[in-house]
Order: sequence, then C-alpha cells, then structure tokens
Amino acid sequence: MVQQFDLFVIGGGSAGVRLGRIAAGYGARVGIAEGRFWGGTCVNIGCVPKKLMVMAAEYRGAFDDAVGFGWDVNGHTHDWTRLISARNREIERLAEIYRHLLDRSGAVVFDDYARFSDPHTVEVGGEYVRADRIVIATGAVPTRLDVPGGEHAIVSDDLFHLTDRPERIVIIGSGYIAVEFASVFAGLGSHVELVYRQPMPLRGFDPDLRSALAEAMVANGIILHPSAQLARIEPLTGNRRAVALTDGTQINSDCVLMATGRAPNVARLRLDRAGVAVTPSGAISIDARYQTSVPHVFALGDVTDRLNLTPVATAEGHALADTLFGGKARHVSLANVPTAVFSIPPVATVGVGEDTAPSGSRIFLTQFTPMRHSLSGRKHRRTMMKLVVDGDSDVVIGVHMIGEDSPEIVQGLAVAMTAGATKSDYDRTLGIHPTAAEEFVTLRTETRVVGGRSAGEE
Ligand code: NDP
Repeated sequence: MVQQFDLFVIGGGSAGVRLGRIAAGYGARVGIAEGRFWGGTCVNIGCVPKKLMVMAAEYRGAFDDAVGFGWDVNGHTHDWTRLISARNREIERLAEIYRHLLDRSGAVVFDDYARFSDPHTVEVGGEYVRADRIVIATGAVPTRLDVPGGEHAIVSDDLFHLTDRPERIVIIGSGYIAVEFASVFAGLGSHVELVYRQPMPLRGFDPDLRSALAEAMVANGIILHPSAQLARIEPLTGNRRAVALTDGTQINSDCVLMATGRAPNVARLRLDRAGVAVTPSGAISIDARYQTSVPHVFALGDVTDRLNLTPVATAEGHALADTLFGGKARHVSLANVPTAVFSIPPVATVGVGEDTAPSGSRIFLTQFTPMRHSLSGRKHRRTMMKLVVDGDSDVVIGVHMIGEDSPEIVQGLAVAMTAGATKSDYDRTLGIHPTAAEEFVTLRTETRVVGGRSAGEE
C-alpha cells in the first residue's frame, strides 16, 4: 500500500529537520527522507566540526600568549588523530540527536535518498509515497574549478576525512571556507598558501574588514597570493601536488583544497518528473512563500541559493511549517542577516559595508590592540570595529568587527539593528568595562562620510 502524507520533506538538514519536526507537532502526517546524514552539512561536515577545529587551532596563539602572563609553556605538540576522533564522537552524538528529535515528533523517517516519480509521488528506499505537499531541502554540494588536474584537489567534504594533517596545503578561493580552513591549518602548524582572484579576501564584506583580515592572516604565517588564478594542478610523487598559477608561479604542497563555492544539490531528485523549474545556475526557483513553479512543491535553504547560512535555513523551515500547518502565514526576512567568518581572528558583520552604504552615511571606526596583547606581546593582533550610520535617519545600518569574540559581540548588536537602533541609542548605552565590546558604545568621533570628506579634511 502506498503511504500517504500531508507533507513529505526531502533532506534532513537544518531546514528539513526543523520543518518536519514543527509540522508534525502541529499534527500533520509527515514523512522525511535523508540519504546521507541527519543534521546535514552544518552538523556533519560544516559549521559544527569546523568550529571545533577552529577552537583547536586557536590554542596555538593561547599557548604563546600565556608566556607573557607568567606561564611556562614547554613544548606543545598537536595530535591530529586525537582531535579528529574527539570531533567525530561529538558529531555522531549530534546527528543522533537530530534523528531522535524527528522520531519523537511522530514524523516517519526514511534513511534513504528520495526522488520524484510524479508531481505528488516520491520514490524512497524502494517504495512509493504520496504527499499533498512536498518540500525540497537538499542543500548544496561543493564545486571544483574546471582546470586541468582539478581532480587532484580535495573539496571541503573531504577535509573532514583527512587521516593526517597536511604539512603544506594550498587553498584556492577566499570565501568563508577558504579563509576559515586557512586559519585552521595554519594554527595547527601547516604551511598554508591562499590563492584567490580578488585583490582582498572575502568579497562582499566591508573593505576595512577585508584588509584587516589579510593583514591578520599574514601575521599568522599564511602566504597570500591575491589577484591570482589557478591554471592547473599536477600530481607529483605520493600525495604531493604542484599548483601552477596563470602568472607562472608554481607552489608544491601535500594537499590542494578547492574552496570555490557550492552548487544546489538537485542531481538525484528527478525534478523533471515533477516539473519543478530551476534557475540557470541550477538553483530551485521559489517565490516569497517558498513555492516552486509547482504550487504544492516548496523549496528551502541552500538548494534555493539565496543566503546560504544555517540559521536562514532553520528559520525558513520553521516559517513554512507555521504557514502550512500552524495557521500563521509568515516568511523570513533576509534583510540584515548577521554572519561571521570563523577565521583567526574571526570576522563578524551585520548590515551594509561602507562600499555599499548610501552616500552621506557616517562612518565611525576604531582600531586597537586588545588588552590581552598588552602583556602577551603578540604583534599584529589588532581589533577593528566599525559602524555605518545612515546620514539622514541616524539609524545604524552596518556593524563590522574583526577581532576576538566578534561573532559573540555582533550577534547582540544584530538585535539592536533589527530593533532599528540609532547612533544616539548606542551613545546613551553604557559600556561594560573593561571589554572590547564597550568600544561600540563609546565611538564618538566620526571618521568620514561616505561620498564626502574624511575627518580632518577641509
Ligand atoms: P564562497 O562563495 O564564500 O566563496 C567562493 C570562493 O571561490 C570565492 O573566493 C570566489 O571568488 C572563488 N571562486 C569562485 N569561482 C571561481 C573561479 N572561477 N575562479 C577563481 N575563484 C573562484 O563559497 P565557499 O565555498 O567558501 O562557501 C560556500 C557557502 O557556504 C558560503 O558562501 C556561505 O554561504 C556558506 N558558509 C558559511 C559559513 C559561515 O557562516 N561561517 C562557513 C562556510 C560556508 P570571488 O569572491 O572572486 O567570487
């Protein structure tokens, strides 16, 4: 007999699990399929294991800093295998929790890939199921540049299965993944070279953040190759690789990581059988209500390639469950979504950067050496904070920080931005002393005006 559901969710990642759980809680008959791992990319081969690895890498600086505070730290070495097995244990625990939450919610769980056989029928694990509504939440997969020898590079999925830490690694790209893993490997002791086509890393972020990050990466021993293009990769003996750039530079390494973006994960879905339309880049087209070209089929999260962040996917899953089964129609605003790059030091941001701010916006900027480094003696460990303030309304429209704890600090300020805080609201807020965060409420001197004069100019 064909099982019949009110809702069938394809994909058990951040969006799918939240949607399935909340919809089942509203009493909907829910089926959900996941063929790889519950919790999806973020839990298994993304945000969570990555952050544990960043934490491991941060100890390098902490050991060095401790000496300035009177500690004797004699010879510290790192055991990759111990880190990886501890990390894997934690990830297995979390993935199990995700699956368990679904089971408990009453959803019917399928541990297999699903694909359409017609607009209302899905084939999963050798059986056919029918649903009134079907939601695609299959995320994205890493892509490779099409260059000779591209197959000799690894992608981010493979990073989580490396049995040894490469002594020398070349990373292609300067987006989130490239910058974060450059920091991880440099912190754990690898020689890291970063090859990217922009003059500065992290395209799309505020220009001052980008230059401060480049400076910090150099201070961490990372070799930068800005404005560079990969020409080819050649295998050498063993695992060794030769990376050739178009300007003739050759870099030898033990590993090449291509961190050059991700593509919507639609290959197995047989979308043609449901008639679901995709954009030229292969993303599923949706409207403001997450509806695809087929009215009873919806899509959420990275497979729609808009703002590919876990909290966006999770929030969208919840909003769609509320809309379809909770009697509360709503969608998630993608305005002012805060984001962080877990480089060392981390970068965090919400709102517009100076380069995209309206003319007349007022810029407030401060840079300083964090208090810790007055004793640690660590050089080039600058914190930078910046506010972009609308010139007419006084509303703070951009908050940017690079420095220790920046993601924790900017998360709080994102609340203020959502609430529409003005610069005078910041000014009448008292600081917590002594912290770095208090600088955000004591910025009094305007640095410059967008499209106008700089401070000190006549
Ligand atoms: P990104 O889109 O962030 O970065 C892709 C990088 O590859 C850019 O530097 C881009 O250069 C470069 N690139 C793309 N095409 C080419 C090309 N043809 N030649 C040379 N360089 C190229 O992708 P990632 O893979 O780093 O991450 C994927 C997404 O996952 C992120 O965008 C983000 O949404 C999410 N993510 C979020 C994290 C977080 O929240 N902390 C962590 C990790 C991932 P250019 O800038 O010039 O286009």
